[in-house]
Amino acid sequence: MRGEGRVRGYQFFAPTAIHDAVRFKAENPGCTIIQGATDVGVWVTKRAFTAPAMLYLGKIEELNELKDGASITVGANVSLAAFEVFIRDRIPELYRILNVFGSPQIRCAGTLVGNIANGSPIGDTLPYLFVADAQLELAGTTGTRVIPVASFYRGYKKFDLKPDEIITRAFIPVVKDTLKLYKVSRRRDLDISAFTAAIRLRVNGRIEEARIAYGGVAPTVVRMPKVEKFLTGKSPLLETFQRAGAIARAEIKPITDVRGSADYRLQLAENILSKFWHEAFRSSGTRPSHDGCRQEHPA
Ligand SMILES: Cc1cc2nc3c(=O)[nH]c(=O)nc-3n(C[C@H](O)[C@H](O)[C@H](O)COP(=O)(O)OP(=O)(O)OC[C@H]3O[C@@H](n4cnc5c(N)ncnc54)[C@H](O)[C@@H]3O)c2cc1C
Repeated sequence: MRGEGRVRGYQFFAPTAIHDAVRFKAENPGCTIIQGATDVGVWVTKRAFTAPAMLYLGKIEELNELKDGASITVGANVSLAAFEVFIRDRIPELYRILNVFGSPQIRCAGTLVGNIANGSPIGDTLPYLFVADAQLELAGTTGTRVIPVASFYRGYKKFDLKPDEIITRAFIPVVKDTLKLYKVSRRRDLDISAFTAAIRLRVNGRIEEARIAYGGVAPTVVRMPKVEKFLTGKSPLLETFQRAGAIARAEIKPITDVRGSADYRLQLAENILSKFWHEAFRSSGTRPSHDGCRQEHPA
């Protein structure tokens, strides 16, 4: 049964079908979607946020889907906790990052799609989604479309999402290449990142393909095309990654905020590539290894 009514003066709607949800969104400009409300709730309690209408998707059963296929399909209602368990053996690197995402309570309420839609440049799941070429299904009043996660972001909190559209599913490929994910925060647990990174390499003697995404260095998570181009075709030697670090530093213009200075982020952007080499290649000569993600805390 769908729910409808007014809460603190705004319209609240909890439909049970996607077509009702997108119609409501189209008819209520400025409507805010709620999943776990771990972001939206903070806006309300700390920033006196109000919206003309709120749309809760949790009653739409179709959006509870979590299944294997060519990619993992993650419905908009799937909690981070459920996703974390599902990927434990499928994507161990991302699993370990989710272990230090917020707290168990936040992961039980919050969703993967909420993390994507919130669009924070320091959202912890995003670097993986960028290097894995994850995709989003968007539903609107005239049908659905599928877009790469990376093209969803048009600037700081600006999205490729039409007024009638909602994100219904995310499609998450399972990366088998050499992969490391990083979250740098002041403390290990229950802290927001100052810097995040995903480094994915396909190596066959030489680096055949490099995909690198950084968070916390620009208004959105970004790929690092100059670093990727530099690494491609090279042998995975420490010196190569040190030079790549210098290129990374020149490729970004981070800002100073409460979580870290611009200089600190530039240093992280440079050093993380040498750190990656030590973790992926040092113990086995130049052979890639697949285990071990890192959550960094500088203290
Ligand atoms: C104490 C605390 C700790 C946290 N720790 C972390 C952390 O370690 N790492 C991290 O990355 N984040 C963290 N967060 C932020 C937050 O928990 C995540 O971003 C979470 O994934 C949001 O999911 P949600 O379902 O609660 O989203 P909501 O708050 O419900 O929504 C978030 C945004 O996405 C939009 N949205 C939601 N669903 C859809 C949809 N289907 N279609 C279109 N738009 C949609 C909403 O309108 C809103 O703008 C933390 C938050 C708190 C309060």
